[in-house]
Amino acid sequence: MAVKLAVVLVLFNLLALGIAKDFDFFYFVQQWPGSYCDTAQSCCYPKSGKPAAAFGIHGLWPNYNDGSYPSNCDPDSPYDQSKVSDLISRMQRNWPTLACPSGDGSAFWNHEWEKHGTCSESVLDQNGYFKSALNLNAKVDLLKVLVDAGIEPNGGEYSLTSIKQAIEGATGHTPFIECNSDSSGNRQLYQVYLCVDTSGSQFIQCPVFPRGKCASTIQFPSF
Ligand code: 5GP
Ligand code: 5GP
Repeated sequence: MAVKLAVVLVLFNLLALGIAKDFDFFYFVQQWPGSYCDTAQSCCYPKSGKPAAAFGIHGLWPNYNDGSYPSNCDPDSPYDQSKVSDLISRMQRNWPTLACPSGDGSAFWNHEWEKHGTCSESVLDQNGYFKSALNLNAKVDLLKVLVDAGIEPNGGEYSLTSIKQAIEGATGHTPFIECNSDSSGNRQLYQVYLCVDTSGSQFIQCPVFPRGKCASTIQFPSF
């Protein structure tokens, strides 16, 4: 009897694991290079030179509906650049690294794959993960959306509401705006989060927003 019960429990657990979802949705996070660089810490341009003035990809992050998230899910799946060789030129253009010292991007992409990408591997393999992020970045030109709404990267101050409304108007979905601070402590537009379905292809309404807040008026530094 005890043996039978144990067998049933083991089978049940295996079944639960098999159908358990790894995550509920993605945050697609893009960074404004002007704000990454305009801090006390400053930044370093990639070895290939100064990136274009555009929002660049930071990452595609699997998340749970309760706001928590998995990370570093599979140590047996290291970043392997040969799996994304068809995407490298797009990654250099649209997923540039600004951390110091200057790099070719591979350390940034390695970090994003190992921390986040390995947690959505049941849906997107390495090539699919990077391609999905690139395709999402190509779907919305955030800089154009903001400039068309009169919100220009000229160091001026803009209301957080006007920034959110411009992005919501263009994408149909409410973004989360993350701010950072320049060396004088002014809050500025740093990252834009949009939510994406578990296939990594469609923007959705966010099930939950990250914590943190900007200020009612924030700067949009030039780059
Ligand atoms: P920070 O502590 O600077 O907000 O975030 C540091 C890092 O933690 C981020 O770059 C990202 O890798 C991860 N992270 C922070 N917040 C979230 C979140 O809400 N969801 C996910 N998936 N990752 C997050
Ligand atoms: P996360 O915040 O996603 O956990 O970690 C980002 C990591 O990637 C940090 O170790 C950071 O130094 C590195 N990194 C390299 N290039 C960039 C960049 O352009 N932007 C950001 N946010 N992090 C970068």
